[in-house]
Amino acid sequence: MLQGARHVHMAALNAAAESSGINIEIHELRKAADLSQAKPDALVFPGGESTTMRLTGNDAASRLLPAIFDWIRTDPTRPVLGTCAGAILLCDPRDGGEPLIAAEIDRNAFGSQVDSFQSALKSSLLARDFPGVFIRAPRFTNVGDSSEVVATLGEEVVGVRFGNRLALTFHPELSNDNGFHQWLLETTKEVTA
Ligand code: GLN
Repeated sequence: MLQGARHVHMAALNAAAESSGINIEIHELRKAADLSQAKPDALVFPGGESTTMRLTGNDAASRLLPAIFDWIRTDPTRPVLGTCAGAILLCDPRDGGEPLIAAEIDRNAFGSQVDSFQSALKSSLLARDFPGVFIRAPRFTNVGDSSEVVATLGEEVVGVRFGNRLALTFHPELSNDNGFHQWLLETTKEVTA
């Protein structure tokens, strides 16, 4: 909850819960203690501005970012959805540890705000086309052997899955298809069963 498109993600999660029939409880995380209190089963890393997220999340008043990285690393099966800036943080945590998704990513690689665009993309994870919303989007520059490409825009890789962690360079929460949020809920259901 420190920055970015958080409320739209909550709406998308609620819509996905409704369509998949999976009951969810959403916890808003602002500081490290919120995470230990909430004990979530899965996590959404929203899009926004990764620089701001690094600053606010590493600030002594929050320390949410290191707590989240630690939470993810503690159990590699924990489902995580990172979108846009969230994908940047997963691929490039800059905390001295391993990337949380084995892929390299380049910030703002599609250009500035005026180069933001919408385009249908292909997703093997959902087995259908998906309405992609790209806002000052990053670009995957390298995908590790242990990662799977799950979404493409032409030749461009726009979605990478590393186990139960998913990094998307677009904003699925800003489209009317909640398939990726459903994937998160279904994966979480399997992991916690
Ligand atoms: N350009 C932003 C960054 O570098 C990401 C944009 C977004 O999340 N929509 O963090």
